Amino acid sequence: MSGKDKTGKLSDPDSRIRQAKGEKMAKEQKDQKQLMRENEALRRRIAALELEAQRFKATLYSIGDAVIATDAGGKIVQMNHVAEKLTGWPEAEALGQPAGAVFRIINEETGAEVESPVTRVLREGAVVGLANHTMLIARDGTRRPIADSGAPICDAHDKVTGVVMVFRDQTEERTAQKALRNSEENYRNLVENASIGIFRTRIDGSRVLDANPKLCEILGLTREEFVGQPSAIAWAHPEQREDLVRLLREKGTVNNYEIDLRTKSGEIRTVIMSMITYPELGYLEGGMQDITERKLAESKLAAAQQLYRELFENVNIGILRTTPGPEGAFVDLNPAMVKLFEADNREQLMALHPSKIYWDESQRKFISDAIVAKGTAKEEIKFKTLKGKPIWCRITAVKKIDASGQVYFDDTIEDITERKQFEAALREANENLGNSNKELEQFAYVASHDLQEPLRMVSSYTQLLEQRYKDKLDQDAKDFIGYAVDGANRMQRLIQDLLEYSRVTTRGQPPALFDAHDALGEAIKNLQVAIQESGALVTSNDLPMVLGDRTQIVQVFQNLIGNGIKFQRPDVAPLIHISAEDDLHDNRLRLFKVSDNGIGIEPRHFERLFQIFQRLNSKKEYPGTGIGLALCKRIVERHGGRIWVESEPGKGSVFFFTLPAEDHNNKGEPK
Ligand code: ADP
Repeated sequence: MSGKDKTGKLSDPDSRIRQAKGEKMAKEQKDQKQLMRENEALRRRIAALELEAQRFKATLYSIGDAVIATDAGGKIVQMNHVAEKLTGWPEAEALGQPAGAVFRIINEETGAEVESPVTRVLREGAVVGLANHTMLIARDGTRRPIADSGAPICDAHDKVTGVVMVFRDQTEERTAQKALRNSEENYRNLVENASIGIFRTRIDGSRVLDANPKLCEILGLTREEFVGQPSAIAWAHPEQREDLVRLLREKGTVNNYEIDLRTKSGEIRTVIMSMITYPELGYLEGGMQDITERKLAESKLAAAQQLYRELFENVNIGILRTTPGPEGAFVDLNPAMVKLFEADNREQLMALHPSKIYWDESQRKFISDAIVAKGTAKEEIKFKTLKGKPIWCRITAVKKIDASGQVYFDDTIEDITERKQFEAALREANENLGNSNKELEQFAYVASHDLQEPLRMVSSYTQLLEQRYKDKLDQDAKDFIGYAVDGANRMQRLIQDLLEYSRVTTRGQPPALFDAHDALGEAIKNLQVAIQESGALVTSNDLPMVLGDRTQIVQVFQNLIGNGIKFQRPDVAPLIHISAEDDLHDNRLRLFKVSDNGIGIEPRHFERLFQIFQRLNSKKEYPGTGIGLALCKRIVERHGGRIWVESEPGKGSVFFFTLPAEDHNNKGEPK
């Protein structure tokens, strides 16, 4: 090749050689520099790579999650400390092991082995996540819930050269989640079963979002009727509603606000309401407690207290309260006490020791001891006013314990002085009456007894007069003597009746048990003549045993049957029936009935008949003295019984009387 210089001239061969040499050297120098530069770059790159690898390792080992890396065959090539801790495998031992041997996982619910994510990544060549409820079983068998993902490691040509698994212990997370779930459930339970009404509405109250059963109950609505409707305050009184809205706007909360709500049925219920707004959430929550019953009870209590106070102030009975024990002092007393004890004012009485109002001061201790022993005392005691006047009072004292546990004696004192005086007067009058009754009976007895003798004289001498002088006397004188004899005879009968009447008590026998049927038989026997003459039919049922004076009961039967025969309608044969039954009002008595088919009695005479010497019919038509029924009454009443009549004129009469039965404890014993 021909050499030319820059100018184009050809150079000589030496200079060409030199030139060539020079050029070669320059090139070599240049290449060397280039190599050095490349070396330097390579060195720097290696250093950078090493740094990166170190950083990677540092990151890998310091990362909070567990990391395991495998090669393309699924064998472990790297794992960090967290992975060592969770699997229980030290990295040195795990290296080269198949991933599945170190990273053993099962399904938490089924307990079945789960395919290793390494296998899946290698198969699918893509990132995989773990299903929920995965449990890692560590080398020592410890189980831990974990969250995990696996990703392929690819080279520059996207060829999978390994897998990296990242997983973390979820134990705490799970516990926290469970605690959260539990607390939510508890909260729900609380709300559902709360004894206060709980609700949530839009912040402006325009719609109810939720409400618990108690709230629906307070408003008398079903959940469906309430949720979705305007809020509860819509049922409040307009004034209260405005106030609530204002409070919510100004403060964002309402605390223990008492309002009246109208329920679905129109009933007014009082509730205490608290609300709190959550502007960022757009709703408000509230709770309400139904205090209707409490308010009602409170107002009843207030009314009762007011009533008590009014009574306390105005009642005519002294009311007082003392501290307990005989030494107790007055705590309170009412105006009636001031008046009753003739004090100038309440303070004067309050300043006294309670025992001072007793006539006998030691009786305060007696009352106090009774209260302590029995909890209560009731006595009639003589008291003394502040002016020294004696008064009789009934004291009723009780032990009371107030709400704070303090013990008191509460007494009521009622003035019974008048009653006591009246009772004393009555006792005296009764005594006098008893004495004069006895005297009267004595008098009747003595009089009738002693009168008989002179009367017999009058009667016999008049009869003698008639017999001896009947030829010498004219008809008038004979008639007069006849009247005198008749009068004397009647008087004798009356006196005998009176004597008999007074003997009911003076000659009565003590009560004994006897068969009423036998007594009836005796009475019928005594009436034999009258029965035969009148053609009467006397029948009876079986009669019970009774307790009394047999002779007197025979007399009762005899008088009643005798009257039945006597007070008969002309040309009608008397029918008399005697029966007995248990007294419905008093099982200790037997009720006897004596019925006839005689002339009967007008009701207006029913009472009068039983009075002594009272007669309804003329002596001519129906002879008698009018003592029979009075005697029956006196006998029956002496036995603790009663006698009465039911009758209709022209249709006959029924006489009833009661007598004590045989001792009712022995009733039913064979006769
Ligand atoms: P007395 O039979 O002596 O008149 P009582 O005291 O037995 O007296 O009776 C008083 C009166 O009651 C009789 O007079 C008679 O008017 C009336 N009375 C009594 N028993 C009967 C009777 N069974 N039926 C009608 N009236 C009677």
